[in-house]
Amino acid sequence: MSPTAAPAAPTTKAPAGGGTDRVFNFSAGPGCLPEEVLKQVQQDVWNIGGSGIGILEHSHRGKVVDKIFEECEADIRKLANIPANYKILYLTGGASAQNHMIPMNFMPVGSTADYIVTGHWSQKTYEQAMKMGPHFGKAHLAATTKDQNHSSIPADDQIKYSAAPAYVHYCSNNTLYGTEWFRVPKSPAGCPLICDASSHFYSRPIDLSKYAMVYAGAQKNMGPAGVTLCIIRDDLIERGSKEIPELLQYRSFVPEFSRPNTPPVFAVYVMGQIAKWITRSGGLTAMQKHNEGKAKLIYDVIDGSKFYKGHAKPEARSLMNLTFRTPNEKLDDLFVTEAKKLGMDGLKGHRATGGMRASIYNAFPRAGCEALAAFMKDFEKKNG
Ligand code: PMP
Repeated sequence: MSPTAAPAAPTTKAPAGGGTDRVFNFSAGPGCLPEEVLKQVQQDVWNIGGSGIGILEHSHRGKVVDKIFEECEADIRKLANIPANYKILYLTGGASAQNHMIPMNFMPVGSTADYIVTGHWSQKTYEQAMKMGPHFGKAHLAATTKDQNHSSIPADDQIKYSAAPAYVHYCSNNTLYGTEWFRVPKSPAGCPLICDASSHFYSRPIDLSKYAMVYAGAQKNMGPAGVTLCIIRDDLIERGSKEIPELLQYRSFVPEFSRPNTPPVFAVYVMGQIAKWITRSGGLTAMQKHNEGKAKLIYDVIDGSKFYKGHAKPEARSLMNLTFRTPNEKLDDLFVTEAKKLGMDGLKGHRATGGMRASIYNAFPRAGCEALAAFMKDFEKKNG
């Protein structure tokens, strides 16, 4: 199925009788998954690959799981042409666990690591690094967009790096505020660049060779909650501290496809199915086209209206999380309530921005964006 093909779903009417009991799910994450993948998962929970055992019941050291982990890695590698000197690890603890794993591994005592803050999650990441204490180095705030309520992305000359950072960390898509980096920040030569790409991973092509490490919680574009995909260059893994507990060292996950202990087998299995779905759908270039087309439907309504106001500056607008508001909070609430009645769920914005947020990850169908755009115009007519 092409990613532009819509599941049987209504346009602006309630789903009742529309041939499906599913609604358009605009949730910021866990987000919606491709329906054909969900159907495959239903079968495999009962009996995977004719083994007579469901995926939830297989030993993580058996042949069935070996094959799933191998194929998932191969498919993820192929999609972005990931160079051979990078490892793909399946970690737990959410993307948030990287907030301490990264400094524990790569910010030794006496060093400074630089953080670019462009939203809620990168702020948290920076705050956690600041808490590391006397056995580690120090976190330096290289830039923040806080004074603009994170509505923009800083230019390279607004980022003030420390003298010799151990690494630079940034978050390439800001889930709450709806901003996205459309370039890779210029960082000091030779300094490892580390990126939290949780909320737009594989939504468009990515050149991994520009990074020392990219990680993403799977529950937006890559699968269910429970696994964090971590793509990391060999020399950075080697540079990691050996003084910390083994399960906090990246090197412990390199042998045997991330299985020093019981891994999140089901989450990796679904992620593998998603990687296959992206491949069948035409790969990352097709995803980009699909996502740009969907976002344009909604941004065009905002741009053509005096009623709606977008939170993000136009040049920094995310293709995944679209943030906007009506003229007042009462109308925002009414918008969310009325949209829900029409089968559009999860549109309430985070309290940091107020208003609405439409999260339209890879699996979100174009028909849902058409429905939202039509509803926005209709709502403006009635309330504008
Ligand atoms: N980074 C980003 C960009 C996120 O959107 C989120 C979750 N919404 C996180 C980190 C935290 O992820 P987790 O809940 O998996 O720890």
